Amino acid sequence: MSRITTILAITTSAVLFSTPSAFAAEQCMEEGAGWPMVWTAPYPAHRVVGNLYAVGNAGLSVFLITTDEGNVLVNTGLADSTAQIKDNIESLGFSLDDIKLLLTTQAHFDHTAAFAEIKSMTGAEMWATPDDARVLEDGGASDAHFGQCIEFRFEPVSVERQLADGEVFEFGGIEFTTHHHPGHTEGSSSYSWTTTDDGREYRVAIVNMGTINPGKQLLIDPTYPGVAEDFAMTFHKQKEMEVDVWVSSHGSQYNLFAKHRPDMPYDPETFVDPDGLKAAVEALEDLFQQQLNDELN
Ligand SMILES: [Zn+2]
Repeated sequence: MSRITTILAITTSAVLFSTPSAFAAEQCMEEGAGWPMVWTAPYPAHRVVGNLYAVGNAGLSVFLITTDEGNVLVNTGLADSTAQIKDNIESLGFSLDDIKLLLTTQAHFDHTAAFAEIKSMTGAEMWATPDDARVLEDGGASDAHFGQCIEFRFEPVSVERQLADGEVFEFGGIEFTTHHHPGHTEGSSSYSWTTTDDGREYRVAIVNMGTINPGKQLLIDPTYPGVAEDFAMTFHKQKEMEVDVWVSSHGSQYNLFAKHRPDMPYDPETFVDPDGLKAAVEALEDLFQQQLNDELN
C-alpha cells in the first residue's frame, strides 16, 4: 500500500462505513462507531508561514490568517471544537474576538460544525461558494452524499456573501483568490494569496483535496449530476496551481507530520513544498481513475 493510499484510508474515515457500494441512510454510520480519534486529538498550534497559522488538531485542519483589519478563520472541527480552537489561537498570542471573516474549504460537518457558535461569539461574516453556502445554511441537509445522515448534520450558519470561481477579494490588505474545486462536495473550494516573511514572498494556498468518500458514485447513478466532470476539472486546475506553501483540510493530506514536529521553532521554510501539491493531486487522480474503471466493469 502506497503512502498516499494509507493516508487516504485514514482521512476518508472509511472505518465509519460498512459497505462501499450505494449509499443509503441506514449505512450512514455503522452502529456503535465513533469519530476517528485523530479528529479530536490535540496538536500544538503553530505558524505555517507569514500570516498563516494552523490552529486545528491532529486530524482536522483549521487555519487562522492574520490581517491588519481582523483575522480570517478557515474551517472548524467537530461541533465541540470551539474551545480547542480558541485555546490554540490564544496559545499563539491572538484572540478569537479578532476573527472577522469565516471561510470553509468544504461544507462537511467535520470542517463546519462549530461555525454557528464561533459566528455568534465573534460576529464574523461567513463567505462561501454558492453550493457550499446552500449546505452551510441548511446544516448539511442538502449535501448530495451525506444529506440523509442525521449524525452528519450540523448547526446551520448563515452566509453573507457568495464567492465565484476565480473571484479575487480584498480583506485586511490581502488579496485572496477563490478557487472552485468541486467534487468532494459540490461547493468545495481553495483559497490562495501571497504573504511576506523575512523579505521573501510566499505563494500560499489552502487546498481542498479531491478525495472520494466511501459509497460515492461517479458515473453509475452518480452522487450528483456531473460529479465525475467536477473531479476531473478540479484535478486539472489543482495541478496548474503555482504554490510555495500549500496546506489542506486534513493534516495528513499535506504531510503535516512529515513536514513538522510539535517542538520545532518557527522557520518560514518549513512548509515550502512547491512540487508536493502536484504529486498529491496525481495520487488522488489515480484513485479517481481506478473508481471510474471499477464502476464501468
Ligand atoms: Zn469531507
